Amino acid sequence: MNALIDTFGRHIDYLRISVTDRCNLRCVYCMPPEGVPWMPHDELLSYEEIATIVRIAARMGIGKVRLTGGEPLVRADLVTLVEMLGTIEGITEVSLTTNGQILAQHARELKRAGLMRVNISLDTLDSDRFHRITRLGDLSRTLEGIQAAEDAGLSPVKINMVVMRGINDDEVVDFARMTRERGWHVRFIELMPFTMADMVPSADIRHRIESLGVLEEGTAPKGNGPAYYYRLLGARGSIGFISPITEPFCDRCNRMRLSSDGHLYPCLLTQGKVDLKEPLRDGATTSQLQGLILEAVAAKPEHYHLAIDDTVCAKRKMSRIGG
Ligand code: SAM
Ligand code: SF4
Repeated sequence: MNALIDTFGRHIDYLRISVTDRCNLRCVYCMPPEGVPWMPHDELLSYEEIATIVRIAARMGIGKVRLTGGEPLVRADLVTLVEMLGTIEGITEVSLTTNGQILAQHARELKRAGLMRVNISLDTLDSDRFHRITRLGDLSRTLEGIQAAEDAGLSPVKINMVVMRGINDDEVVDFARMTRERGWHVRFIELMPFTMADMVPSADIRHRIESLGVLEEGTAPKGNGPAYYYRLLGARGSIGFISPITEPFCDRCNRMRLSSDGHLYPCLLTQGKVDLKEPLRDGATTSQLQGLILEAVAAKPEHYHLAIDDTVCAKRKMSRIGG
C-alpha cells in the first residue's frame, strides 16, 4: 500500500466528500436564511466520477472516506454511492455526516450497502430552539434518525454539537448526561467564525460538564478525527472536544476534502484548491489525476490562517466544501 505524506510529514489517509451543496436545513452558522444559490446539477461530480477519484486516491493511500455536504441524504440514491465506494480496494471505511432529518427512512439500506457509521449533528434538545437554530428543522425527526441509526447497527453513533454562546451553551451539561443515559458519543465543536455568533472555548465547556463528575481521559470511539476524548464515570458513551479555534489540531490533520463541484481542498480554512472535475471530464489519464492529487497534498499548509471576518472563509461555504 502506498502512503500519502505531506510536506510536514503528516499521513493523509482520509477524504471527506461533499456530495451536494443542497440542504434541507439552514443552520444559522452555516447558511443564510434564504439558502445559497444551488449549483446546477451538471456541475456536481457524478457518482461515477466520485468513485473514479476515490479509486485513484485509494491506490495512493486514502483508506477512509466520509460523505458529507450540504446534506448528503438529500442527494438521490446515496445508497448507490455508498455501495460503489465500499467495494473499492483499499477503502476500509465509508461513513456519513448528516443532520438526521431523513435518516430514519434510510438507515437500514445504508447499513446494508456497507455504511459503517454516522455522525449526526444535533445542537439542542429543545424543539423550539432546534427550529430556531436550523430554521427549517424538526427535532423529533433527528431524534428518530439517531434511534434508527442505533437500531440499524451504524455504531458508534456520534452526536456533533456546535456550541454557541447565548444560543445553546446552557445545554452542554444535558448533552454530557446523554453519554450516561443513552450511551451517546457526544462531541462538542467550537464554532468556526463563518458567522459572528460567539464561540465557547472547549476548556469552558469541559469545566461546566465537570459539575456531573470527574472526566476521565478516554480513548476515541471507532473512527478517526481531531477530538480529544473523555468519559464520565459509568458512562457508556464518550465526550469529545473538537477545538479548531483554541486547540488547533493541524499537526494531526490527516484529511483532505473533495467538494461537490470536484475541487480538492488541502485545508478547510486556508485558500487553495485543485480542480479535478474539468481534467477528469477532459479525459485526463490516471497518472495525470494522481499528479493533481499530489499537487493538493503538497499545498497542504502547516497550519491554517484564520481571522474573524476573513472573507475567504466567509465565501467558502461549508455546505459546498463539506464541513
Ligand atoms: N448537513 C450535514 C450536517 O449538518 O451534519 C453535513 C454537512 S455540515 C456542513 C457538517 C458539520 O459541520 C456539521 O456537524 C455542522 O454542525 C458543522 N458546521 C457547520 N458550520 C459550522 C461552523 N460554522 N462551525 C463549526 N461547525 C460547523
Ligand atoms: Fe445544512 Fe449541515 Fe449546514 Fe445545517 S450544518 S445548514 S444541516 S449543511
